[in-house]
Amino acid sequence: MLYVTHVNVDLDAIAHNVEQARKLSPRAKVLVAVKADGYGHGAVAVSRHLAKLGLADWFGVATTPEGIELREAGITQPILKLSPCLTDDELDAAIAFEITPTVIDAASIAAVSAAVGRAGGKGFAVHMAVDTGMRRIGCSPADAAGLARTIGADPALKLQGLFTHFPISDQPAGDEFTAGQIVTLEGVATQIQQDRAAAGLEPVELVHASNSAAVLGHPTDFGMVRPGIMAYGYYPDAQTPRPVELRPALSWKSQISYCKPVSAGETVGYGRTWTAPVDSWVATVPVGYGDGFSRLNSNRGRMLVGGVSYPIVGRVCMDQTMLDLGPVVAGQPAPAEVGDEVVIIGQQGSESIDADELAALMGTISYEVTCLINKRVVRYYSE
Ligand SMILES: *Cc1c(COP(=O)(O)O)cnc(C)c1O
Repeated sequence: MLYVTHVNVDLDAIAHNVEQARKLSPRAKVLVAVKADGYGHGAVAVSRHLAKLGLADWFGVATTPEGIELREAGITQPILKLSPCLTDDELDAAIAFEITPTVIDAASIAAVSAAVGRAGGKGFAVHMAVDTGMRRIGCSPADAAGLARTIGADPALKLQGLFTHFPISDQPAGDEFTAGQIVTLEGVATQIQQDRAAAGLEPVELVHASNSAAVLGHPTDFGMVRPGIMAYGYYPDAQTPRPVELRPALSWKSQISYCKPVSAGETVGYGRTWTAPVDSWVATVPVGYGDGFSRLNSNRGRMLVGGVSYPIVGRVCMDQTMLDLGPVVAGQPAPAEVGDEVVIIGQQGSESIDADELAALMGTISYEVTCLINKRVVRYYSE
């Protein structure tokens, strides 16, 4: 029995979307970003499905607990923590669960090395982030070769990966900047590979840079790509090239919990911010900001009932939201009744609402809309 307010994730849509990333990067390995619980879709279910189909070579997480969750769920693919571990306890856990750490400077290299030593290991794989313009994490390109030599000389470590990140690969206006970052990473990688060859070391196995936007708009020859949002069916930006068809995987549904006539002049909800202009049917939907349906949707946006779009009226509450179903017509029933399906994100009849539409109203991006959907909204999976 479905819980009333629930999310359905179409795992085959995610598989289709990752296949598109593979098609666009035919020679590259694919790391699928499943951080933030798979952008709200459920990291374990998404990772298991992609692993089963052999569509993901790697998974990318933001935190060590996210990586541990995947390991405890039986995921055996390599997992990259996309940012450095800050404490020894966290590093010890990452090493115990074979989560590949990111290093960015001499201190983070020394910390991983010491943790590998404590665990009695050697040759533990790390990836080094190089900052080519994002200015978030990573060593400067000028320092990269020296740090790579430090790692190369340390028997506790193996420099398996070298990567950078793009801040504006989603917009054609940033094409020149992104191209410059690619050239910088290529230069750094060439120098490091030459140094390693001269030192008798194996080449760095994986150089990687591309997020979804770059997979879609900036093909590279690097050995791995790191799509996130496109796996879930969204283009990073309205301006990002769309060389392939993506399928949004997530739908979010509820049911009408109450429906009543509200007289002209009466107000609806906290703060009395909406006044019925005429006698109106107003429906209540049991979803609110406690579910991750942002309060920014108060008096804006819409939901679907019976294939028809109805405006949200009044403030979104923590657990409930109201819809204006239109004027009361004498002798006619309400256009909808308790138990009718409500679509918050997804399709109903010929109408659909996607995360990009909600994001535009909220002044944000689809990423945040799906990440916001709270744990209490039960996820169901279909294939
Ligand atoms: C989140 C993330 C990605 C994926 O980005 P999308 O825009 O969702 O494709 C790739 N690389 C890094 C380092 C990230 O943090």
